[in-house]
This record gives sequence, C-alpha cells and structure tokens, in this order.
Amino acid sequence: AKGIVKRDVVKVITPGTVISPNMLEEKENNYLLSVYVDENACGFVFTDISTGELKGAQISQSHFVSKLVNEIAKTKPSEVIINQDLYNNQLIEDIRYVSDAFVNTIDDWYFKEAYCSEQIFNHFNIKALKGLGLDDKPQMVKALGALLGYLGETQKNTLSHLNNLQIYNVSNHMSMDKSTFNNLELVETVAEKRVQGSLLGVLDKTNTAMGGRRLKQWIKEPLNTLNEIQQRLDAVEALMDEALIRNNFKECLKQVYDLERLCGRIACGTANARDLIALKNSLSTLPDVKSYLEVLDAELLNNLQDHIDPLDEITDKISHAIVEDPPYTIKEGGLIKEGFHDELDVLKHSISDGKLWIANLENSERARTGIKSLKVGFNKVFGYYIEVTKSYYDMVPEEYIRKQTLANCERFITPELKEVESKVLNAENKINEMEYGIFLQIRNHIQTYSDKIQQTAQAIPQLDVLISFAEVSNNLSYIKPKLNNSNTIHIINGRHPVVELSIKNGMFVANNTYINDDDSSFLLITGPNMAGKSTYMRQTAMIVLMAQIGCFVPAEEAEIGVVDTIYTRIGASDNLAQGQSTFLVEMSELAYILNSATEKSLIILDEIGRGTSTYDGLSIAWAVVEYLCNKDRRIKTLFATHYHELTQLENIIPGVKNLNVDVKEDNDDIIFLHKIIDGCANQSYGIQVAKLAGIPSELLVNADKKLLELEKKSSQVDLNKNKVKSLQEDQLQLSLFNKNDSMITQKLKEINLLNTTPMQAINILEELIKQAQ
Ligand code: ATP
Repeated sequence: AKGIVKRDVVKVITPGTVISPNMLEEKENNYLLSVYVDENACGFVFTDISTGELKGAQISQSHFVSKLVNEIAKTKPSEVIINQDLYNNQLIEDIRYVSDAFVNTIDDWYFKEAYCSEQIFNHFNIKALKGLGLDDKPQMVKALGALLGYLGETQKNTLSHLNNLQIYNVSNHMSMDKSTFNNLELVETVAEKRVQGSLLGVLDKTNTAMGGRRLKQWIKEPLNTLNEIQQRLDAVEALMDEALIRNNFKECLKQVYDLERLCGRIACGTANARDLIALKNSLSTLPDVKSYLEVLDAELLNNLQDHIDPLDEITDKISHAIVEDPPYTIKEGGLIKEGFHDELDVLKHSISDGKLWIANLENSERARTGIKSLKVGFNKVFGYYIEVTKSYYDMVPEEYIRKQTLANCERFITPELKEVESKVLNAENKINEMEYGIFLQIRNHIQTYSDKIQQTAQAIPQLDVLISFAEVSNNLSYIKPKLNNSNTIHIINGRHPVVELSIKNGMFVANNTYINDDDSSFLLITGPNMAGKSTYMRQTAMIVLMAQIGCFVPAEEAEIGVVDTIYTRIGASDNLAQGQSTFLVEMSELAYILNSATEKSLIILDEIGRGTSTYDGLSIAWAVVEYLCNKDRRIKTLFATHYHELTQLENIIPGVKNLNVDVKEDNDDIIFLHKIIDGCANQSYGIQVAKLAGIPSELLVNADKKLLELEKKSSQVDLNKNKVKSLQEDQLQLSLFNKNDSMITQKLKEINLLNTTPMQAINILEELIKQAQ
C-alpha cells in the first residue's frame, strides 16, 4: 500500500467462536454458551457457530441453578459468557467444574434489556419478541441478546446462518446430572476418558461427522415423550429389515461432507472453493438417499425424506463454475472453469500466446545459444529469468542482461522476456482478481440458500444415527422395546451393552429386572464383591436410556415405562478443589437425588453410607430406604449394599424386594455365577475377593482370624432383631465419648482457670489421667 497500511481488527477468535476445521474435532460440537441468571430464573442460549445450531431455554422451576448446571455438564461448552454480577459466584465455580469451559464474565450492559431486544430485532429482522416465542422469557432474551452482541463484537460479521432459534423445555428430555452421566460411562470411560468402553463406543457406527455429533447429543438427551421415542424406534425397525438399503445408505453417506460446518463457513464468509466442491459432491448424492428413503415405511423416515433437498440449482452452479480440484487459497486464481465467464475467458486467451512463448523459451534458447544447462525460472522478486551455469558463461549472448549472481550460476533477463512477462503478469493479476470476484458472487449466491442447506444438514445426521442404531441392533441382537407411560420396568434377559462385549465367548449372564411403583419399587441387591451387582444396576439404567434415545436394547423382551430422570450415586470420589471430602460428595449427591426425584424417576444407588462409620452409614442407608419407599413418593430404586442388616427391611417396609447374586463356594474359593436371584445374601466374601486381587496370604490369614473374632462379637449386638431403636443405642455405645470420657469432660468444664494455680492444675491433670486409665 502507499503510505500507512490500513489496520483493523477483523475478527476476535475465542474458544467458543473457532470455526477453522483444523482447530475443531470432527465429531464434537464447539459450543459458546450465554447465561443470564437472577434470583428468579435463568435463561441460557447455546450456539455452535461452526454448524449454525442455536438453542436455548429458560428455567424458572425450583432448583433452577442445578438444572442449569446439568444442562451445561451435558453440553460441555468451550466458552461461557455470563453476567458480571455473578463473578466469584458459586455457579461460576460449578460451571468450570462440570465443563472445563473458559468462563468469560462480560460487562453488565451486554445484558441490558433494551440492548438485548435491539440485538434480537436486528439479527432476526423482526419487530416483536413474540414471533420467536421469547415474549414471556425475559432471562432468555438477555442471554440471547448478550450472545448476539458478543458475536457481533468478535466476529464482525452478520452470521446469517444462526437463523433458527430452537427454544426447548428442559423437562422435555430425560435429565441427567453430571455424576449419572459419568457413572454410566455414556460417552467416555471414567478412568481413561476414552470413547471405546463407553455406550457411545458401542453405538457409534455413523458414517458422517455430523452423525457422530448427533448421536452424542441423542445419548446426552434421551427423549421422554412416547410419540417421539416410538417414531425413532419404528424408523430403526424399518431400517433393520432392509440390510441392502442400509448398505446403499452407508455408501451414499460416506460421500457426504460435513454439511453443517460447510454451511457455517459459507455464512461466515470463510468457505473456499474446495468447500464448494465438497458441498456439490455431498448434494449430488442426495437424490439417491431420497429414493432409498421413499421405499421405507416409517413416519420419521418419511419426514426426513421431505426435509432433504438435493438443491440441484446449487450443484449445477458449482459444477459449471468451479474447477474439480481447486487450490486452497481463493485469491490466487485457478478456481473458475473455462466457459463460465466470457470476460475471464477472453483475458485468459489474451495471455495464452505469451505464456506459450515463455514455456517454449527454455528449449528455443538452448537451441539458439548451444547452452545445454540453460533454464528458465520464476521468482517473486525478479519475475522470469534465464539461468546459466558457470561453465557456459563464455557462451552467454550479448543481449542477456545480468540480474543476479549465485554460487554456481548467473541469472539473466532479456528485454523481450520482460516485455512478455509484464503483459502476462499484469493480465494474471487481473485474472486472479476477477476469479476472486466471481467466486465471492457464487459464494454469496449460495449463502442465500443457507436455510435449505441447513434443513438438509439437520436431516442427514438423524438418518445416519438411525442407520447406526439399526446396524448395531442387527449385529448385537438387540430387540425393539415396548414403551409406555406406566411406572413399571420389565426386562427379560437384559444384558449390559458394554460389559457383554468385553466378556469373551458370549459368557455374559443375562438377567431379568422387574420394578414398579408398588410392591417392588426398591430392589435391594446384596451379594459378594465382584458378583455383578453394579453391572446389573447399570445395565437396567442403560437399557432404559437406550430405549428412550430410540435404539433397540440388549434384552430378549423389554417393557419400559418412560422415565423422567435417571439418578445414580456410585463410587467414592472427592472434590477437594471445592472443599468437599469423599463423604460430603456422597451426601451432597444423595441430597440432590432425594430432593429432586419424582415417581417417574429411576434411581441407582451403589452403596450408601460407606464413607463414614459403620453405624452412621447403616442408619443413613436404613433411613434412605424408608424415605424412598414412603407411600406418597415410592420411587423406583435399585440399591446395592453390603449392609446385610438392611435385607430384613423386605418384611418391614412395603416396596422393598431383596435380590442377590448367586455364587458357588468351592472349598475356600468362590465361583461367581452372575445370576440375579430372589432373596438375600448372607456374606460378602470380601476376603476371598482380596485373595483374587493378590493380597499377600499372610495378611489374608490374619484377616480371616479377625473376621471370626468380629463375627463373634457382633452376634452379641444382633442387629437383625433390634431395629432402628437398638441401632441408635448401639451407636451411642460406640460414640466417641464413652461414660468415662464424659466424666472427664464434666470435670474439665468445672475448672475455673482464673482461680487455679499451676500446682493445682498439675494435680487436676494427674487425677484426670488416673481416671482415663
Ligand atoms: P463390588 O461389590 O465389589 O462393587 P459388584 O458386585 O458390583 O462388586 P461388578 O463390578 O458388577 O460387581 O462386576 C464385577 C465383574 O464381574 C465385571 O467387571 C464383569 O467382568 C463381571 N460380570 C458382572 N456381571 C456379569 C454378568 N452378568 N455376566 C458375566 N460377567 C459379569
């Protein structure tokens, strides 16, 4: 440029606004979340600007903050913008804890009502909030307005593809909190954070990156409306029956690029010619996809068929305009096909003679001068030059003008070469500029089809996931579950979808589950360590979840009353960074479950009360059973425990049903049968399991002795006969301060330090020590 180069910030890239393909994971969404919270409610909006997704909700029911945190844990945004008055608020800590997001507290004015409404009006080109369904959602208006304002500031672009705001109701999906999500290992394993070993790892046979992302969303958001679930199941059934069509679909889908992200790049003005070719190739497979869909009989598949538009006008345009293998850059020409633009063709022809002359120059000059090593080259500083090596210097013709000397050669130009060069280069610059202009016109034209491309881009991943479900269900012999609105879950020969694959030779033992909200609402599962209690409980939760995402399930038969939430409390973990010990985490999770579960929920409790003293823990576990079996709120629960004392509750509390896992004893060893049977276990076989784990035998012998001793003692305090009352008495007996201790405490309390001499103090101390002995 002449003078000072114009400078400007053209874009601010933040973790939530990245769109460059090499900075994004193919099968992951990259969400930016905007949250507005006040004392009454919260509103939030997620967007993935790389795909054009824009969705949000407002929550004003009780526990709205924990519901918000659950949504965030599920969606895992990479950046969160939030109103500044929440800075240092616990919510910000929670958001960081559940999502690892970059939390960006932005100025309060972003959330001002007038500013937000204006942003929304301008972006959606509307005059009233009602049109978007936002008139009764003031908190969501603020979240959305701030989001659009923030995007405008950072992207310096209109982002026209964010045009479809989906407002959802958090209670329209089955909700799951972060611990359930992790405990069931739905999308990654807890220990290694790997997809393999998770439910996603089993179900993901998708053929497109979009399908992979959609499957993850479906797993995170199971449905809870019967009709929607049924539609998905029917579609999977239709696809199951047609192996050949499924195969054809797979072949087509392999040719489909990431339409969602292509559409995002077109709207953001960053798509290059290769993106347009990818778009064309993807769209041209869609007529086949539509024709295969036509023969399948399922409502959802018919809907998808209607939503897929091959957009012939776009494919034609790109086919005529863009070369098949264009370069990555769009400003250096080589993009536009001959025959598409007359003026461009004329310009290209005008330099063809010159280009040919340069192309032939090397041969003609070699022949004319006799210099065998003569070469014609080009660089950006000197343009075209003729290169001659040292040994031929004496043969260089007079008219050659020396331009550059290198170690072994010299470079020359000739007036004629420079003349042709200037014609060619000037024309080439013009051609590049013209090609760039034509390319932008085409891209802008395609941008006007954003809506339609997006609509297609929404349908393809759904189809991809349904095909994946059919494929997996077919390969792994899953069956179609029957869903209803009852509160009963009845599974015959259910299997754990992940564990069954890790057990070789089909040795997984299938088990039945029957649970309702009446006489069998609380399944109390006892049994040895390693017998399969956790596996059984998780498989029940997973079968319910799989049914509600619309997939077939690993069982022989399954009748499932739709569940509103799955809660799990499993394992020991602490959260030291947030000041919570292992037991406190356990109790906080339990409190959350007890406060929010409804009669439509399913609760999995793998041990309660193990993180504290036996009697404290047992009392809590006992009270939990009573609480969850209360006749006014009988909530379906599977509870595994080693507190064998609790099994007597089957006779005391209606709803409790004892189950245990069958084992065989073989001398001192134990054989796990993994079969769930009625009744209760009487032993935990912990020491035998410790032996399996390789604990030194000397230690095991001592542990056996200690066990005998303790069992003798405990028979004196027979909990089985004395219920809660005696439990409390025992607890008192075992409490930290026994009778002796309390006398000492009393004595200490009586001392008046101001009237006590050092000598007297020593005497008192001596007396206390004697009492303590
Ligand atoms: P603990 O009380 O020690 O927590 P658990 O009873 O919960 O033990 P699980 O963790 O469920 O036991 O299962 C232990 C192992 O047993 C599993 O990793 C799996 O390999 C195997 N297993 C569990 N259930 C079955 C089954 N139904 N069929 C075959 N193998 C099983």
